[in-house]
Amino acid sequence: MKFETSLSFAQQLNAADPLKSFRDKFIIPEANGKQKIYFLGNSLGLQPKSANNYIQQILSDWASLGVESFFHAKEPWMDYHEKLVHPLSKVVGALPNEVVVMNQLTVNLHLMLVSFYDPNAKRYKIICEAKAFPSDQYAFETHVRNKGFDPASAIIEVAPRDGEYTLRTEDIISSIEKHGDETALVLFGGINYYTGQFFDLEKITRAAIAAGAKVGFDLAHAAGNVELHLHDWDVDFACWCTYKYLNSGPGAIGGAFIHEKHHKESLPRFAGWWGYDKPTRFKMEKGFKAMPGAEGWQLSTPGMFLYAAHRAALEIVEEASWDKILSKQKLLTGYLWFLLEEINSSSAKKNIVFITPRNEKERGCQVSMLMLENGKDIYNGLMKEGIFTDWREPNVIRLAPVPLYNSFEEVWKFAETFKNLIG
Ligand SMILES: *Cc1c(COP(=O)(O)O)cnc(C)c1O
Repeated sequence: MKFETSLSFAQQLNAADPLKSFRDKFIIPEANGKQKIYFLGNSLGLQPKSANNYIQQILSDWASLGVESFFHAKEPWMDYHEKLVHPLSKVVGALPNEVVVMNQLTVNLHLMLVSFYDPNAKRYKIICEAKAFPSDQYAFETHVRNKGFDPASAIIEVAPRDGEYTLRTEDIISSIEKHGDETALVLFGGINYYTGQFFDLEKITRAAIAAGAKVGFDLAHAAGNVELHLHDWDVDFACWCTYKYLNSGPGAIGGAFIHEKHHKESLPRFAGWWGYDKPTRFKMEKGFKAMPGAEGWQLSTPGMFLYAAHRAALEIVEEASWDKILSKQKLLTGYLWFLLEEINSSSAKKNIVFITPRNEKERGCQVSMLMLENGKDIYNGLMKEGIFTDWREPNVIRLAPVPLYNSFEEVWKFAETFKNLIG
């Protein structure tokens, strides 16, 4: 599509947007009766209005039936998991029995490392991106130590070349090839939280498999944001949080994917009673017997309030349809890029260095901009105008318009304000 800079063009895009009514399903932050422009769906997605009802339902089941709610609530708690897994499996491109909703992201990352980082004297390395999210770094480092290896030699970080901000796929692949015989696990973010770069997960997976290593992804910034085909790509495992693009609330319940090909193997795992074979779980017998599929990795009694909030958010995804969300994501972010590039090329200072890749296959909603001058003032100026973006030291502004509740007109208004602040 050929974009234009006028307000009326933004309004035309809004009018033609098949998802425009979905904004009303969310609570948009406001002050003095005026809605803010919220571009922080990459950090904490907004609240679905329906979350309140679903959480209230759990409270009232609990009040009227107590523990009997597991079996006798209008929607029995025992089967609630199934309402989540179906829409989620579409979002991550998996079979329903490859997906489990449980715990939180860092916990799930640890559980996956227990199962898929099984080093020996020859194969013990983990290949990952340099500057992975800190929690991920800590998880890798502690597992490596726990297995008796030294993180300094066992963790191989692939970094951008000098003067570049993002990783080249060829460099990732050549690192996997170079360390192939010694690599136990290749573990990348799906999308890097800082740069917004969407890695080529399919190619990384192929290279890891060719090297004889296991391969997994942390999809915190990818799940609910970009198109994924975990099953078809033959990824071993993945995990994600659901409070970012999946709008399921602060500290929301996390998710994990374990490829079907591993369901029959006896991988090492840390077990709990909720992962025990479902029909016989309540016999409470000695000796762990896993449920078939990804659910066999569950540990604990599910957090029903978290389930309820997640369900509210996933129902909206289902109603909107994942394909339409992806199409709007491309259009909305493409439009933002167009306006930002216009601003940068028409200003004398060329104050913006884009660190997110321009190519739509290498990014999702997020745009990260390194500001050469006055970054903090520009960020504060946006805040003052009711536009939420995110500031990362030393000088990066990140923003992410999301398809379910952001509009083309909001992107336009942001761009106008930004242009004036840049001067
Ligand atoms: C957001 C994020 C986390 C946060 O982990 P929690 O356990 O949910 O606090 C971890 N890793 C990545 C890559 C993230 O983007």
